Amino acid sequence: ERPGAGGSGFPAALVTPRLDAGDALIAGLHAQALERARDLYRALPDAVIAEGVLQLEQAPRDTARFDKIAAQDLWPYDAMTRLDAAACAEHLGQAVQSGGLMMRGALALRPSAVLEAWLAGAERLSAAVETLQPEGEGWALLDADGALLIEADAVVLAAGWGTAALAPDLPLAPVAGQADWVEDPTTPPVAWGGYAVPTGEGLLFGATHDRGQVDTLPTEEASARNLVTLSAALPALAAQVETAGPVRTRKAVRATTPDRLPVVGALGRLNLYALTGLGSRGFCVAPLLGEHLAACILNQPSPLQNTAADRLAPGRFPPGSGNPHAASRA
Ligand SMILES: Cc1cc2nc3c(=O)[nH]c(=O)nc-3n(C[C@H](O)[C@H](O)[C@H](O)COP(=O)(O)OP(=O)(O)OC[C@H]3O[C@@H](n4cnc5c(N)ncnc54)[C@H](O)[C@@H]3O)c2cc1C
Repeated sequence: ERPGAGGSGFPAALVTPRLDAGDALIAGLHAQALERARDLYRALPDAVIAEGVLQLEQAPRDTARFDKIAAQDLWPYDAMTRLDAAACAEHLGQAVQSGGLMMRGALALRPSAVLEAWLAGAERLSAAVETLQPEGEGWALLDADGALLIEADAVVLAAGWGTAALAPDLPLAPVAGQADWVEDPTTPPVAWGGYAVPTGEGLLFGATHDRGQVDTLPTEEASARNLVTLSAALPALAAQVETAGPVRTRKAVRATTPDRLPVVGALGRLNLYALTGLGSRGFCVAPLLGEHLAACILNQPSPLQNTAADRLAPGRFPPGSGNPHAASRA
């Protein structure tokens, strides 16, 4: 289709790290990725909509968990601050039931501005790749009619859920999601199980998580679920949204993995690589992982520790763990 045709194509996205109180390597990786993503996005015109994302406590255990995360020796000083319910309410300008974690380094982002800036100057060919055929030390990319699209020295499969059909050995699973947006009101960026993000011209909220589904036709039922999610955490905002103008909506498919970690690295065949399985955090992790992958391909030093790179490598999955969903490409 086109850049932004999949999960990266919503009017606003959160750039937030996976919060992990137990796994130091994964927590560190996300802290590093957030810092890199933030530096790169801030250098682009119009990409950053807002800085600082408030993560609200959802369950009683989040109180101790967020305390532990805020105290982790991973974040820039003052980047993670605990707020009580009154401070959260003051920040959001409306009543909330729980305290939270203020992530000052996290962002609300305008994906279209990033795609536009980063694709400027790239040679582009928009076509659906059906088959990859080894060709000398490189690859031939063919369409559904078997016609040659392009020959390449090296191929990186970075096609979101579409990667599943091209690399059926990866245990990717689809999680369809719908988000909705309105032109008025707006809010500072906030997440709980759902999220509400300023778009610059209003507010985007959501999102649904429909495991195993690949259908991208938005439904009123999913919009209703998104409103229930919003109302559960921010009832005053939900009431404003209900009386606001028309709700716009979009659905796409996330590519997820069994361990909820991305897939980045060589696929075990000469000059074939993948960067996928980004789940719900691609805008945080993909810039750092893209640099890691470029370093691997060019045989240059990577910004990732070897142990982190190994945790994300395609080869971490046991042989035969392939993809039962691969036939149902989005
Ligand atoms: C409702 C919803 C909200 C989300 N919100 C956020 C958020 O706030 N923050 C966040 O970080 N992430 C969010 N995500 C997750 C987002 O999908 C990922 O983080 C990330 O953006 C995925 O990027 P990607 O490039 O891997 O895949 P995609 O953005 O899905 O892009 C895949 C591209 O590959 C193309 N393609 C597929 N198959 C082929 C093929 N065979 N040949 C050629 N091209 C092909 C597609 O046309 C598309 O352009 C959200 C997802 C959903 C569904």
